Amino acid sequence: MRRLAIYVSLLLLLLPGCGAPVDPDEAQESIQVLAMDTAMLITTYGERSPAAAYACEDTIRDLEAKLSRTDPDSEVSRLNAAGGEAMEVSEDLGILLELAKYYRRSTGDAFNIAIAPVVSAWGFAGGEEYRVPSQEELDGLLELAQDGPIYQGPQSHGGAARYSLGPGQAIDLGGLAKGYAADKILGVLQEYEVPRANISLGGNVLAYGGRPDGAPWRVGIQDPARVGEPNAFAGVLELTDSFAVTSGGYQRYFEENGKTYHHIIDPATGYPADSGLTSVTVVAGLGEGDGSGFPGAMCDAYSTALFVMGEERALDFWRDETMWGGQGCPFDLVLITEDGRVAVTEGLADRFTLDESGGYAYEVVS
Ligand code: AMP
Ligand code: MG
Repeated sequence: MRRLAIYVSLLLLLLPGCGAPVDPDEAQESIQVLAMDTAMLITTYGERSPAAAYACEDTIRDLEAKLSRTDPDSEVSRLNAAGGEAMEVSEDLGILLELAKYYRRSTGDAFNIAIAPVVSAWGFAGGEEYRVPSQEELDGLLELAQDGPIYQGPQSHGGAARYSLGPGQAIDLGGLAKGYAADKILGVLQEYEVPRANISLGGNVLAYGGRPDGAPWRVGIQDPARVGEPNAFAGVLELTDSFAVTSGGYQRYFEENGKTYHHIIDPATGYPADSGLTSVTVVAGLGEGDGSGFPGAMCDAYSTALFVMGEERALDFWRDETMWGGQGCPFDLVLITEDGRVAVTEGLADRFTLDESGGYAYEVVS
């Protein structure tokens, strides 16, 4: 059953594969959900597939109600408007704030949710007009991004955690929320004992299990140079039990006086990141598989941050994290560069196939 027949170009598409036919007896449910400012596609399999798919939708809607910046009643909007007062937060928001703090530190400030006032000034928070802010305005707003939310502890023993922001400060979880939603959906799939599923949350994919014919899921990576064309992929990943998240400047942007401005902000400048990369995909496994880790959130935060960092810093980061094991979730990368290359880290080399029609040069990085 299709809830919403809305066709927008999904940033990552789950492609139909070739190979053995799909088991005709395996029940399947596919629903489209418009949430978090994007079109999502949830496909679950197995006897409980309809209930599981709608439980996934409920999870997304519940998170959106907490994290939206355009809904003035969301927890995030209320924290942003609290003017320095400490506010009790839900367990989800508390986890996200701690994860964001960790990713900010691990990425050397490339990922920073306190960049929200700058995101709003450009018009990327939703609700405002797109515009190019003056340098003076950006300098003032960057000052506000220096500090993040501060943990204030519960009001009384056993109470909810409280956080505060300084006056004028704000947070934006747009670079992290969909990945966290994918982590929570993994928990739902396990609870409903779904044997396989593919979940595409606007650039955030969870390839759970494999296809009914036993082959891996095929996940296309959008060619940033051919965004308007249907099925124009830079390459295809073959994945089982993995999260794959792509960030790219082509996903949201506006043009003014012949220049293009996109939605991923370099916290060092306040301007859209101009790092020589056109897209970054981060791929990780399911972690412990028991829902205790957050590999989806990690992929989401890191895809945004590595897009800001650029190729050299991104690969150094990957080498360091792979060697020392960041949060215990190893990951791999597909980087697409402005100068026409696709660089894939070695762990993905046998799972990635370049699409020759994109005209990219292909490199495996170690
Ligand atoms: P993504 O699509 O996951 O790369 O996230 C991009 C979104 O994250 C933007 O639309 C902003 O809401 C927010 N954002 C932009 N720049 C940053 C940044 N440097 N760190 C954290 N979040 C950001
Ligand atoms: Mg992200």
